[in-house]
Order: sequence, then C-alpha cells, then structure tokens
Amino acid sequence: MKRTNEMHFATSSKAVPAGFVARRALSSMKLRSKTACPCCNKTLLFTYGENCSGYITVGCKNCGLPIAIDLDTNRALRIADSI
Ligand SMILES: [Zn+2]
Repeated sequence: MKRTNEMHFATSSKAVPAGFVARRALSSMKLRSKTACPCCNKTLLFTYGENCSGYITVGCKNCGLPIAIDLDTNRALRIADSI
C-alpha cells in the first residue's frame, strides 16, 4: 500500500473527510506493534502497516511523560534533556 492519503479510502467507497481515518481502514491493516510506556507500562499506541521508519513522540495519557517511539524497532524510549 502506498504511503499516501489514499489508504483512507482503501476499504470504503465513501469519501473520508480530511483529518479523519476510517476505523475499518485501520482494522483491515496488519497490526505491527502494541507499544507500552517504559515508565508505567500502560499501552501507549498501536502501530499498523509496514514501511514505517523514524521516530514519533507521544505523551503518555497515564503518567504524562513524553515518550519517543522508534518505529524501526518498535521500542518506547524516555526523552532525556540532559544527555
Ligand atoms: Zn506512562
């Protein structure tokens, strides 16, 4: 599947408004990983599809810490300011 907004329309004939993704488009993709917070172990996010690379950052809804996710290894990492 190409890495464009075309995935939003992959499983539906209905147009999906800009800024949304259809839940059925996500559920039709292979679950790549389920990543937990390295601090509180609460599930942070689910990653779908392939061809993901680089980092994303997210704030943990449970403990509030900013976490970086390495998409190449699916590891959740604490963000250090002093290193
Ligand atoms: Zn947490």
